[in-house]
Amino acid sequence: MQNLLPDTRDVRIFQKPGRVDAKALETVDQLLLILPPEPSTANFKSLPQGAKIQAVYRKHAAGSTPAFTTRLPNKKQTLVVGGTIAADSSTFEQLTFGRKLLAAATSQKAGSLGICAVGFANDQQAQLVNSVLAAALAAAFNMPAYKSKPEPDKIKSIRLLGLAEKIDTSRVEAEAKGNNLARWLTAQPPNFLDAIGLANLAKDMAKEHGWQYKRFGTRELEKLGCGAFLAVAQGNDNDSASIVRLRYRPAAKSASADLCLIGKGIIFDTGGTNLKPFEYMLDMHGDMQGSAVALGSFLAISAMELPIAVDCWLAITENRTGPNAYKSQDVVMAANGKTIQTVHTDAEGRMALADALVLASREKPGMIFDYATLTGSCIRALTTRYSGVFSNRSDLHPALKRVGRVSGERVWPFPIGKEFMDDLKSDTADFLQCSPKGNGDHILAASFLAEFVENDVPWVHMDLGAGDNEDGLGHVATKFTGFGVRYTMSAILDENLFKAER
Ligand SMILES: [Zn+2]
Repeated sequence: MQNLLPDTRDVRIFQKPGRVDAKALETVDQLLLILPPEPSTANFKSLPQGAKIQAVYRKHAAGSTPAFTTRLPNKKQTLVVGGTIAADSSTFEQLTFGRKLLAAATSQKAGSLGICAVGFANDQQAQLVNSVLAAALAAAFNMPAYKSKPEPDKIKSIRLLGLAEKIDTSRVEAEAKGNNLARWLTAQPPNFLDAIGLANLAKDMAKEHGWQYKRFGTRELEKLGCGAFLAVAQGNDNDSASIVRLRYRPAAKSASADLCLIGKGIIFDTGGTNLKPFEYMLDMHGDMQGSAVALGSFLAISAMELPIAVDCWLAITENRTGPNAYKSQDVVMAANGKTIQTVHTDAEGRMALADALVLASREKPGMIFDYATLTGSCIRALTTRYSGVFSNRSDLHPALKRVGRVSGERVWPFPIGKEFMDDLKSDTADFLQCSPKGNGDHILAASFLAEFVENDVPWVHMDLGAGDNEDGLGHVATKFTGFGVRYTMSAILDENLFKAER
């Protein structure tokens, strides 16, 4: 019944540069028409039936997105969904614009989708079409559904019409693959995608894509002294927890990693002994989104065959209740010998990540990025529109923000450091797991994690506040947004961030 890997059928993308003719329009069920804020008659004239579309625009255009919709009197009765957007709008605005056009276009029968931007300079046209294409590839993806009746058909093909010249869509396609995988995994029912299932899935993907795979099971983790991770895992009624390491090596197999991605993979978070109430526990199958985003980013890097050596670590366990579950005041020792006084068992993410950070940083990668749905206080500080970022290199803050702006997955940096560890002073261990008082928990959590980064490896932690949005975010319409994949790719390709401190 359960299929743990998504349908990898790619949506076919066709490009037809040059003027849009009536025949091209006949090939699409819907046309997403992207226009500047004050479209000229010449803009409409460049389209078949342009006069008719312009008449609809004049009569019905609203300030919202879409600005208008109309059906053309051709064989397919092509639905035109038109919207206006300024050429200098931000990536986030462009992605949001794309999501809204798609929502109007795919509310009925999908099939073949056209995307066309008129009235823009060539580079602006390419950027806008790529942004709307990102939204289309998100909308075309089938999320997990275990229903007796099949879901209605999604978009099967995408035609980029009226381009001044062919554009490179390989990056948007790779990012979509990664984002779709991240959303797919996050939305999986936790009885289907369990801790063993996620590790096995990583193994299957490794085989398919030529990655190296290693699974550290609980016995091996015991030998490595990973007492923080194992404290969380000991509540499982089975021996299912593990830390998985994947390696992508485009050149020398033995090369050390330029970049290392780490994901929090809490399959289901009950809160543990300090049990969550119903409304806070309901969506806790999504508490492995950090590992889904790490794996999705890793897949996107591999799909683009980027010439960098990358590792990916997934810290996979449940956080359950039970006679063996860890509890407040337990003292445990992490792999780097530091001892932790447990305060709240629902602060399990930082425990699981602590040991993954030790293991990963011991290998001295060029830079570490970790992703985790870690704290409610990050959401209280930023809402779910932005994710929080934290680093042991505060001079990276401007670059981190820039990557958010360029990718459309926006972040905001927070301070961390030793001074905040004063709030985690412990009588019985090196420090507390978290503060019982709870102010600035996102900052304390990140400061805590910094204690487990060995060898002073440059490190960025992303608290995925924007991973869960009821109405979607940016180009993504689903509740789980897969936030972080586009960010990672932009950090690599636009900002060269992983090399910043080398
Ligand atoms: Zn928790």
